Amino acid sequence: NEHAAMQNGYSKKKFDVAIVGGGLVGSLEALFLAKRGHRVRLYEYREDIRRTPQVRGRSINLALSIRGRKALKTVGLEQHMIENHGIPMVGRMIHKVDSSTYVIPYDTRTNQCIYSVGRNYLNSLLLNESESYTNVERHFNHKLIASDLKKGTLTFKRTDTNEEVNVNADLIIGADGAFSAVRKAMMKQPLFNYSQQYIEHGYLELCIPANEKGEFQMPPNYLHIWPRGTFMMIALPNQDCSWTVTLFMPFNTFKTIDSEDKLISFFKEYFPDSLPLIGEKKLIEDFFGGSPSPLVSVKCRPYNVNGKAVIIGDAAHAVVPFYGQGMNAGFEDCNVLDELFHKYGDDLEKILNEFSDTRWKDTYAISDLAMYNYKEMRDLVTRPSYRIRKAFDDL
Ligand code: FAD
Repeated sequence: NEHAAMQNGYSKKKFDVAIVGGGLVGSLEALFLAKRGHRVRLYEYREDIRRTPQVRGRSINLALSIRGRKALKTVGLEQHMIENHGIPMVGRMIHKVDSSTYVIPYDTRTNQCIYSVGRNYLNSLLLNESESYTNVERHFNHKLIASDLKKGTLTFKRTDTNEEVNVNADLIIGADGAFSAVRKAMMKQPLFNYSQQYIEHGYLELCIPANEKGEFQMPPNYLHIWPRGTFMMIALPNQDCSWTVTLFMPFNTFKTIDSEDKLISFFKEYFPDSLPLIGEKKLIEDFFGGSPSPLVSVKCRPYNVNGKAVIIGDAAHAVVPFYGQGMNAGFEDCNVLDELFHKYGDDLEKILNEFSDTRWKDTYAISDLAMYNYKEMRDLVTRPSYRIRKAFDDL
């Protein structure tokens, strides 16, 4: 009954919610709202990723931490991810230039670890789960091109038919990533603070395949790091026993490697142990087959427009990936919003205002930590701790 519903924090009103962006955070948020009984329409620019091959240019796998797990648990998917898919990484395995390795455990006290998960797998799992709710609609090939956030109106262009689609919603959620169109609309509001920073490093993904027996070529339960001061390489394990290897390096350094010979010499000098694992041919193919992608950090606030619109995930706080917390922080946004729905029932104004007033402190902190870890992973990790303190002070 209504009274019991209110006491449980479940709203008696069923809102019409439009979520822009069906990436990791948007598709998770759809589940949170569907569970509360709201009508959810999810609009995604790309085709349905469950029907398209993996596209290059987004990280292939990610580290899932306790923050992200907590949110997955609330929608009933944590166990599945951990038991059926995630590969535990219990520490960092550091690869020195002389090819020797050593381990730095993440947590010896409570045995917590992070899990390597596939982006497409997780995104598909969330979308599949949304199919089990009759109150969720998914609209792919819909690109947001205009909006009036105060009125709750959105205009999409269908990328398959070129048709324009107009949508009215009680609540608009912008989960459309680092270059968010919803955030762009918010920037027209007075008192909206915004800053963005591109770092001088870009990233390029390479691959260490499984060996002929289909096994991992390196110990699988670690995040492998090749720290080299001004640049670094990392590797996270995949379910098929391959590794996604990410090279982070200043764009200027990428540019100097403009021939196959230079590439092989560079790897022989800095990452000699990785070369036989990747294979020279595959290295050349992958390195010259793509181009390094930029890394941007975005801070902004407030996250809402009255009780009508809110941004979450990378749309609200894109961070550099060195703390492995971008997705996790976005998943945590969903949990925080859910707690506020529980607290305030159907008062959207209160829910969004409190989210905006409180959440930014944590996301700004994660952003600063990620920027710090940028230096830690490629450089400080190899030094004694007193020098780390000095370098931290110098940042
Ligand atoms: P996105 O994943 O960017 O999804 C946004 C969606 O919105 C996309 O599907 C896009 O197509 C859609 N969209 C965009 N514009 C429009 C529009 N106009 N109309 C409709 N739809 C639109 N995080 C971690 O927690 N752990 C890690 O280990 C980690 N590693 C990373 C490694 C790299 C190299 C990078 C680059 C990032 C990493 N991250 C990691 C961060 C993580 O990828 C992001 O935080 C996460 O993808 C954010 O999810 P999101 O749903 O907010 O945004």
